[in-house]
Amino acid sequence: MMSPQSPVSSSVPHACILVVGAGFSGAVVARELAEAGLRVKVIDQRPHIAGNCFTQRDEETQIMVHHYGPHIFNTDREEVWAYVNRFATFGPFINRPKATTRKGVFSLPVNLHTLNQLFDKRMSPAEAQKFVEGLGDKSIQNPQNFEEQALSMLGPLLYETFFKGYTIKQWGEDPRDLPASIFKRLPIRFDYNDNYYSKKYQGIPLQGYTALVGAILDHPLIEVELNCGYERSLSTAYQHTVYTGSLDRYFEYAEGQLGYRTVYWEEERVTGDAQGVACMNYPDPDVPWTRKVEHKHFTPWEQHDQSVLYTEFSKESTREDELFYPKRLARDKEMLARYQALADQEQDVTFLGRLGTYRYLDMDLTIAEALALGKSLGKRMADG
Ligand code: UDP
Repeated sequence: MMSPQSPVSSSVPHACILVVGAGFSGAVVARELAEAGLRVKVIDQRPHIAGNCFTQRDEETQIMVHHYGPHIFNTDREEVWAYVNRFATFGPFINRPKATTRKGVFSLPVNLHTLNQLFDKRMSPAEAQKFVEGLGDKSIQNPQNFEEQALSMLGPLLYETFFKGYTIKQWGEDPRDLPASIFKRLPIRFDYNDNYYSKKYQGIPLQGYTALVGAILDHPLIEVELNCGYERSLSTAYQHTVYTGSLDRYFEYAEGQLGYRTVYWEEERVTGDAQGVACMNYPDPDVPWTRKVEHKHFTPWEQHDQSVLYTEFSKESTREDELFYPKRLARDKEMLARYQALADQEQDVTFLGRLGTYRYLDMDLTIAEALALGKSLGKRMADG
């Protein structure tokens, strides 16, 4: 298996397709194209593959660190689960985050345990459902934003304890300006199921995501070049370009800068177990960080006496930052429409992935879309 820093294979003389970005989108599309018999050159401006999924064993402790924040693979898509299992063995990880608040430590996502603890009750599932329905704000008939969605479903106490402060810190915006769809990512449960995800399959690759993406890229028709930025003039040497970077960067910010949040971390090393769980969220508004991530808990099948902890903060992205969360505020969507009109005029370029389409995508949907594009583009190009 290749090392994360080294190019995959020896030089390919006549690459036909350029893929910009060596994250999941770029790697999967490159693999599909290579399997269709096409030569592919993959470039990435960073010194490593795997994009924001990049994981690396910490030199001192050998703990697998999720360098750009926690990535827990979860999916209902049979074809995507089969695909990733072709390239890596997954360990059985279930995400059971907790929330530290001024009222105590609670189970997430909000479930029957959380409700019984917060309201000091002993409710059954049916009683809890009725109780929470009673908390919802009935005056909100057609929720238009994150706050209205949360208040209409949960009422003020649950909203303020678990969602309001976290969301303001995470997005840097008033929750009334954020789409209801962000709130709908999170389940509310009336049983004791504290699995954060509701998907059929969940896990973490035993050797990390970098090895998984490396295996996807490991094909004789794929050449990878790292530390290689993209300029549009590069595309002239190729029949087609698949671009997985941000749309606004591609068009040199001609229509302005799309809003993204970026995240950054403070690292801490401790002996033993710092927090007893992989993800501890901090929804209170007076705590400056959003969550703390203790990496060794992502691999419960490994034994580590030491521990590496990341305290996560969120801020607005500048042009120099790594991009994480597309904000998709009203002004962003208007700008996006203008960029999409420009993108439609690019004959030999396809835009793909979280940054290339400016959407808050989970890993599994990213892979599904890259597989679909790889298959259709591969067929089109191979047929000439
Ligand atoms: N969220 C929250 N409280 C939490 C966790 C999440 O209010 O304890 C909100 C917040 O707005 C966040 C969104 O739900 O951005 C989506 O959370 P998710 O856990 O899916 O975020 P990700 O893992 O993608 O960072």
